[in-house]
Amino acid sequence: MKKTANPDQHQQRMAKIKHQIDKKIAAADKQQGIIVILTGNGKGKSSSAFGMLARSLGYGHQCSVIQFIKGAWECGEDLFFANHSNVDYHSLGGGFTWETQNHEADKQAAKKAWDVAKQRLQNPDLNLVILDELTYMFRQELLDLDDVIATLQQRPSMQNVVITGRGAPDALIEAADTVSEIKDVKHAFRQGIKAQKGIEF
Ligand code: ATP
Ligand code: MG
Repeated sequence: MKKTANPDQHQQRMAKIKHQIDKKIAAADKQQGIIVILTGNGKGKSSSAFGMLARSLGYGHQCSVIQFIKGAWECGEDLFFANHSNVDYHSLGGGFTWETQNHEADKQAAKKAWDVAKQRLQNPDLNLVILDELTYMFRQELLDLDDVIATLQQRPSMQNVVITGRGAPDALIEAADTVSEIKDVKHAFRQGIKAQKGIEF
């Protein structure tokens, strides 16, 4: 069994850790916006993005949301954020491709959403741009990945971008600064439990 450290040893160890952490904090001195990707099969990608939206709004930042897949149902984030005075909110994409079953229509909807997104990615007044469910646009070849990456790289230097969706392509991950892959450990849906208002939508 591990011996409990005496108070002096504990204090010395914590002081050492504090010194290392302070050094890392001091070294991270670049001032720039970042690209965050939330991908993976687990639940929590869009809800995390909307968590960052709430944080940004807390500081009075101007934010934009572009949803690349429009679900058939309303969801709590639309109801809460769409009419917020500091949020420019667009739910523009088509439905799920297995619902629309029309590749040309999906492509047009994707292009329309991307045109709106592209404008926002050139606006330095926007501190945060959320591109919700963007990754699906590459799976079905609805958008050109190179164009998206080039636009992201040319955006205003202080602008933050959050991208969500499963299966983020490698080149997009390469272009990002922070990437989290959310692992699906369990989901209530597979036990036949109905989607919960406020949790799922
Ligand atoms: P959330 O919006 O809850 O953060 P998400 O953005 O990570 O979810 P999406 O793939 O966009 O996940 O799925 C949207 C909907 O499907 C949400 O209602 C979500 O709860 C649900 N969902 C997410 N992951 C799973 C899963 N692994 N199995 C079943 N349903 C899921
Ligand atoms: Mg999502």
